[in-house]
Amino acid sequence: MTRTISRSEFLQGRFSGKNRPLRPPWSVADERFLELCNQCGDCKKHCPTRIIQSGRGNYPLIDFKRGECLFCAECVDACQTGALRRDTKSPAWSISASIDSERCLAHKSIECRACFDPCERRAIEMQYRVGAIAIPLLDAQLCNGCGACYAPCPVDAIEIRIPVEVAA
Ligand code: SF4
Ligand code: SF4
Repeated sequence: MTRTISRSEFLQGRFSGKNRPLRPPWSVADERFLELCNQCGDCKKHCPTRIIQSGRGNYPLIDFKRGECLFCAECVDACQTGALRRDTKSPAWSISASIDSERCLAHKSIECRACFDPCERRAIEMQYRVGAIAIPLLDAQLCNGCGACYAPCPVDAIEIRIPVEVAA
């Protein structure tokens, strides 16, 4: 099960119930994360793209408006508390992007491919149509949730889907 968070929730770190805040990659389950993380900020200091920011209670959160995740694991290496644990068999996280067609300019017949160009995974494909503007289609199976498409969208049409955490 996934839940899409609004842009304001995303940037302010407002989450509720069992919905998982967007922590740095390879974070342990959120309940355990809050026990282990001592808010030292080491992950934030080491992130080369500066996408780790301090959220509520000074706990780290990801802000894709600042850039993308490189999956370099510098944050994991910097974390001394075990709140971030890299398992090479598991992906960094289970998030994926989606496109809100109500907001997307291309869906309103305005030429735009701002999300397409930064996607190195080619998870976004431009669908060309005879006599019409090409529209972006996003394949959630190919998306690794790097967030590279998020900031370039001029109308905030990219949404980040965060799985609801089943067990903490
Ligand atoms: S993996 Fe690298 S780029 Fe991604 S959040 Fe951690 S330090 Fe930043
Ligand atoms: S989050 Fe990354 S992989 Fe997914 S569609 Fe956007 S740019 Fe592509």
